[in-house]
Amino acid sequence: MFELLLPRRCVGCGAAGVTLCELCRCAWRSPPFRVYPRVDPRVPVFALGPWGGVHRATVIGLKERGRRDAIPEIGAVLGSAIRYLAARGDLSMDPGTVLSPAPTRRRSARLRGGDTVAAVCRESGFEVVPLVYLAPSTRDSAGLDAASRRSNLVGAVRRINRVGRSVDRVVLVDDVVTTGATAGVTVECLAVAGIQVTGVVVLTAA
Ligand SMILES: [Zn+2]
Repeated sequence: MFELLLPRRCVGCGAAGVTLCELCRCAWRSPPFRVYPRVDPRVPVFALGPWGGVHRATVIGLKERGRRDAIPEIGAVLGSAIRYLAARGDLSMDPGTVLSPAPTRRRSARLRGGDTVAAVCRESGFEVVPLVYLAPSTRDSAGLDAASRRSNLVGAVRRINRVGRSVDRVVLVDDVVTTGATAGVTVECLAVAGIQVTGVVVLTAA
């Protein structure tokens, strides 16, 4: 319906007529790079882009502005980045390794029309198994320092009870890494369940 009323605009720069223009697509296709968050999650962390410009605009578009039309494109970029990292030996994607979205509050994900990161993962070509969520009482960590973020998160990252499918190796995927606290706590939470996180891949690094 909106498509009929509003002309489509590039999610990265606002150019008219496309979901993602050629320039923004180029920006998204630059190779992923290793990042070193302040809180070391003790697994390698890779980002597809910096938290700025085209990358930031795209993530905000996906998460806050309902630009679900851009999900297939960004999912394909994520898939290529993971294959690139695996081919270089930077990220282990041995058979059986699945992607798992970083934990979100279920309610806020529902309000956005579903977990955006999970939707991007599903377009990557890899198998996706959600394993964690954030307890509803978790405070928003914006404005907290690294130590407070961590204590806010310990106990708040919960495992989703799954029946049947057994997973033992995952790559965590998130939209943005800031302090690394969420990734670190999630790695520990999954380790308790015997699930090894082989790496973290984020769309953007702040
Ligand atoms: Zn653009």
